[in-house]
Amino acid sequence: MLKLYNTLTRKKEIFRPLVKGKVGLYTCGPTVYHYAHIGNLRTYIFEDILERALTRNGYEVKRVMNVTDVGHLTSDADLGEDKLEKGAKREKKSPWDTAKFYTKAFLADLKKLNIKKPECVAPATKYVSEQIGLIERLFARGYAYETPQAVYFDISKFANYGKLSNTNYANRKARMNTSGRHGRAEVVEDPKKRHREDFALWFKRVERFKHHIMHWSSPWGLGFPGWHIECSAISSALLGQPFDIHTGGVDHIAVHHTNEIAQSEGAYGKPLARYWMHGEFLNMSGGKMAKSSGAFVTLADMEKKRFDPLAYRYFVLGAHYRTPLTFTWTALHGAANALEKLKRIVATLKATPQINANKKTRTSTDKIYRSYMKRFNEAIADDLNTPRALAALWSAANDAKLTSKEKLALLLSYDEVLGFGFKEVRKSAPVPPSILKLVEERELYRRNKQFDKADTLRARVDGLGYTIADAPSGPEVRKENSKS
Ligand code: AMP
Ligand code: ZN
Repeated sequence: MLKLYNTLTRKKEIFRPLVKGKVGLYTCGPTVYHYAHIGNLRTYIFEDILERALTRNGYEVKRVMNVTDVGHLTSDADLGEDKLEKGAKREKKSPWDTAKFYTKAFLADLKKLNIKKPECVAPATKYVSEQIGLIERLFARGYAYETPQAVYFDISKFANYGKLSNTNYANRKARMNTSGRHGRAEVVEDPKKRHREDFALWFKRVERFKHHIMHWSSPWGLGFPGWHIECSAISSALLGQPFDIHTGGVDHIAVHHTNEIAQSEGAYGKPLARYWMHGEFLNMSGGKMAKSSGAFVTLADMEKKRFDPLAYRYFVLGAHYRTPLTFTWTALHGAANALEKLKRIVATLKATPQINANKKTRTSTDKIYRSYMKRFNEAIADDLNTPRALAALWSAANDAKLTSKEKLALLLSYDEVLGFGFKEVRKSAPVPPSILKLVEERELYRRNKQFDKADTLRARVDGLGYTIADAPSGPEVRKENSKS
């Protein structure tokens, strides 16, 4: 039984899919005008764990992720420039090339972090006609209006606009857009916009956007889509409406996801998604990590300092996804050591032969094995509690009551969710047959209660650089320096 925290109901709920055995999952993707920072990547790691947890719980997951390659302005509230055109200017490239370059870089980051590539990766620019269709629907249902500069969604027409962030906008209707100004003094907003919170569905290629490079023709003239409409159009095209789970970082709750809900539910008169999940922020010691402030770290920065990207994955999973987490290089160092140690354990376990397994004790160790499996699965099923799952992993790795084979089976199975790549860890150098022979001889002496002779052989094996551990199912031998 999988329980997930739903931002919409502000409760942990038992997950029930719309269609038995299947899950439609929509995860908001990157704006590809720059490298992803490790804060963004924290959110993608959380979403990867979610997908893997769903799979582990027997669901077939269809995951869709948009790629924002047009229309996301430098402020989420429709102010400033299009981030893509800004990035393109910075790099003296076309916005198309900029998007292509950073999409590739983003997918490479996902791979390095063992994040599964979503089944559908959908760039906004490939879904412009769907977005136009959706805006037309919003006009037909009375939610959209046009000004000389843009097309907007009228939030006063949508009942319960602030339901996701638990904000009552009805009391705010007095905040009409009379001043024509918003936020920073230098930014002049559209004076014809009805309410401050109304958001753009379509920007016309006029005034501040008259030189906008990426543009399409539409019933409202040349222009380009607003940021939020792409997710509504792409999710309904690829997952239908409603679908099961929609995710993103917590910063998406108040604006982006609130607007997606207004658009999709306004257009189709039915819910957009049943469960809304949000990952908390990764912070720097000085505050939120953000591309716009310039205070951010990328995966490439970590690699330059010779960190394995998976050490970052380990660091992230040490905190629950709904807890804010502060990044420091010291903490990353700790995570790298811990992961290295785990990989050494896995390498040793892979190379540890089981000698003369004693069948009689199997049932009792089976019980311990099963309880470890249960402990891990319950942690993950409890709203993806990765810190508890990691604690189970360490206990199992250090439990002398488990055989090497069982330990390895547990660690490999846990790794299907945690994604540290244990399967690819190469086994330590195999134990040479001459050593194995000594261990077997010693085991015979031990069974015949000839303990002096058994001890002499143990000392010989020790002297050759190998240790014998007497596990319940028989002795195990490993190289001295590969001990955990
Ligand atoms: P963006 O590329 O800005 O559209 O953001 C991509 C994803 O990263 C979104 O789901 C954001 O909510 C998320 N995000 C942005 N900043 C952070 C942060 N500091 N920590 C965690 N997630 C973040
Ligand atoms: Zn989105």
